Amino acid sequence: MAIKVISEKCVGCGVCVDKCPFDAIEMVDNKPVIKDNCTLCGACIEACPVDAIEKEEVEKKGVDISQYKGVWVFAEQREGELLNVAVELLGEGRKIADKLGVELTAVLLGNKVDNLAEELIKYGADKVIYAEDEKLEVYTTDAYTKVIAELVKERKPEIMLIGATTIGRDLGPRLSARLATGLTADCTKLEIDDEDGKLLQTRPAFGGNLMATIICPNHRPQMATVRPGVMEKAHYDENKTGEVEKVEVSLTEDDIKAVVVERVKSEKAEVAIEDASVIVAGGRGLGKPEGFELLHKLAQKLDGVVGASRAAVDAGWIDHAHQVGQTGTTVRPKLYIACGISGAIQHLAGMQDSGCIVAINKNPDAPIFKVADYGIVGDLYEVVPQLIEALDNVDD
Ligand code: FAD
Ligand code: SF4
Repeated sequence: MAIKVISEKCVGCGVCVDKCPFDAIEMVDNKPVIKDNCTLCGACIEACPVDAIEKEEVEKKGVDISQYKGVWVFAEQREGELLNVAVELLGEGRKIADKLGVELTAVLLGNKVDNLAEELIKYGADKVIYAEDEKLEVYTTDAYTKVIAELVKERKPEIMLIGATTIGRDLGPRLSARLATGLTADCTKLEIDDEDGKLLQTRPAFGGNLMATIICPNHRPQMATVRPGVMEKAHYDENKTGEVEKVEVSLTEDDIKAVVVERVKSEKAEVAIEDASVIVAGGRGLGKPEGFELLHKLAQKLDGVVGASRAAVDAGWIDHAHQVGQTGTTVRPKLYIACGISGAIQHLAGMQDSGCIVAINKNPDAPIFKVADYGIVGDLYEVVPQLIEALDNVDD
């Protein structure tokens, strides 16, 4: 869509210039010229006394999608350690690449990260493209975007997957803008359309009340960021072989506008709930912050960690790092024990793929029981101590 001036009709009165609320029209040689900041509001069309302005449909131009092939995964590392989400993306990328019959490539950036390249092959990548440079040691939007955008332009992958980490959420949009393609953020499911091979990218929408499936029909690559913890991790195969290619990068000081001066790590103890195999989670039903001490005891008995619903986090009973759900962390532990959690859709979105779900709730109609493998109707302050006692007896 664009605003077009029909110069044969225009009498040069300049009314549109005054009426434009965004100062997006200027008179040049007695004719209005629409500037880049036009928002297509249409105020000038209404105002023109001689109907000399109209909205024009601009033909949607795409790219020749037949030139694009292969699935790429951004293998995010921090301080030389591969993030779990990179391994999860390799697992999902492998399935997609196999379905399309194309190569799976991992893209790795950093400084002295060559040791990770072989690891990525063993996690299922057919090929690893990696770039090493001092300017890539710490993530900066400018440097990472430049290197990956140039690689994509040159090699044309049809799909590019990025973890929805803080870095991925910064990198994904910048890359998609640079490559003039679409990006579906925070996907929880990816599939290939059986009919036309397009990537079906599903994510929660409208506060998690419905799931939207989004496609990118005319532009490439089809880009998605994927929430950590949602996809299954790739299997590690010691015998897997593949191609590792180092690419040279040329980054100058001018390429990087924002310089990282210092990195200060949060003093709060990190809780890696996404990696835990047992989670004991508490909700508003705990009634008080001290309730988490009881859950902590049970979690310790099971070598697990403590999780929480948003209601408990919002009440200030526990830090957000423990929150499970749509606006918290997505988890899939072997065992998830939900104590005093009703089972709102936004909470379920973050835990319903757990191996075994045990729910403890006073209300027999609580929705959490619909996803639970084992349900205990009762007061958690009676049930949890009994569980701890039973485990004590097992220990003895
Ligand atoms: P409640 O719904 O109040 O449930 C408390 C439960 O405890 C009840 O079922 C009650 O029967 C039970 N109970 C009470 N006392 C006891 C007792 N003594 N023993 C046993 N059971 C007892 N929520 C999340 O959890 N994670 C998210 O990431 C998240 N993101 C959201 C994003 C958006 C955009 C929105 C709109 C909401 C989001 N929410 C999220 C909030 C979500 O909708 C619910 O409000 C929240 O999950 C409710 O938390 P709860 O189950 O602890 O509390
Ligand atoms: Fe031309 Fe219409 Fe703008 Fe007047 S209002 S300058 S006639 S386009």
